[in-house]
Amino acid sequence: MRGVETRIQEIRHKIFTEVARMAYHTEWPVKDRMEALPYKIIPGEKGNFRNDVFLERAIVGERLRLAMGLPYRSAAEHSPISDGIEAADKDETYYTPPLINVIKFACNACPEKRVHVTDGCQGCLAHPCMEVCPKDAILLDRTTGKSVIDQEKCIKCGRCASVCSYNAIIVQERPCAKACGMDAISSDENGKANIDYDKCVSCGQCLVNCPFGAIADKSQIFQTIRAIQSGEKVYAAVAPAFVGQFGPKVTPGKLRAAMKALGFADVFEVAIGADLCAKQEAEDFLKEVPDELPFMATS
Ligand code: SF4
Ligand code: SF4
Repeated sequence: MRGVETRIQEIRHKIFTEVARMAYHTEWPVKDRMEALPYKIIPGEKGNFRNDVFLERAIVGERLRLAMGLPYRSAAEHSPISDGIEAADKDETYYTPPLINVIKFACNACPEKRVHVTDGCQGCLAHPCMEVCPKDAILLDRTTGKSVIDQEKCIKCGRCASVCSYNAIIVQERPCAKACGMDAISSDENGKANIDYDKCVSCGQCLVNCPFGAIADKSQIFQTIRAIQSGEKVYAAVAPAFVGQFGPKVTPGKLRAAMKALGFADVFEVAIGADLCAKQEAEDFLKEVPDELPFMATS
């Protein structure tokens, strides 16, 4: 799914656009605006993306909060979308950990891992799936001749899937957990994705791989724009990867002009920060090693 522009990105872009608009219009009452925005982003009486307009707006409301840096609210809480906005409506960094959040009521509670015989099974004579299963978990439906997996016995090794000539057996894994290199995602008591924040490194892989848009990160767009509006000199540190994001027509010169039009004082390549750190580290090294420190490590 990565690299494909889906409706999840469409919603995400709409939310960021509205949050940015709200930040530029300092005269707008943020509280009222936040309550009204789900109706602007999801108009009408029918669902635009899912089949339930109320659920869609609830998810947009929660995503709006996260985009403002506000904490996630569970569906069990009764509070307005703008709850706590006084703390976030400022021109400096506002951030309540964790960065990556599962919106539980948006989560599909996808099966953690299952091996499944599809209707592509031809009920072949060989039945290699039965032969290779180390747990005798594959049964034969004598009426159709097709394979059936006893989920109690199945250990999800996927050997049956690898030998089927028709690719009729699939191994389904929960996309967020599969993408997580830190093994940080399990299930809560309702079967919804749950992040272990002792393991999570906030890489965002689960976020970009969830097909339900149920994982979202917090942003500082609002506070950054407020800082620009306050007259502070705000500099943008842009990663060279912007070329991949915007395509070959967006040259560094065009990007710089666009960022300045948004109010940034100037734009620098993010590696300049690394150069500054390297210079500082070199000075520290000369000062402290080996008299005060036996060695200095860097990543
Ligand atoms: S992939 Fe998304 S919808 Fe599925 S369990 Fe993970 S967070 Fe929930
Ligand atoms: S994929 Fe990354 S952000 Fe998501 S839970 Fe794992 S470590 Fe955390």
